Amino acid sequence: MATIVDDHVMVCDDCLMIIANDDATGLDHFLDEESAAAREREVRDSIYAAQRDGNTLVVGDSEYDEAFSTSSCDCCHTHLAGARHHCVLMG
Ligand SMILES: [Zn+2]
Repeated sequence: MATIVDDHVMVCDDCLMIIANDDATGLDHFLDEESAAAREREVRDSIYAAQRDGNTLVVGDSEYDEAFSTSSCDCCHTHLAGARHHCVLMG
């Protein structure tokens, strides 16, 4: 049975997009192609690191989302201010 390893992982828009939909195409809206590719790699590496030990990051409860936060993203650790979305790390 799956267990909750961390029930309060707050991630940025970029991480959420890939965690939720495995889709990084939205990055192109803000960045040129090269930056978007670099950013996607960074985010995917962060998610991969978070999921080591066989854990899985899943989208949590949007009730806990923060519309605007200056806290760093728990996944990619960006300090860019913006929305943070609630995720859960399952074991
Ligand atoms: Zn992030």
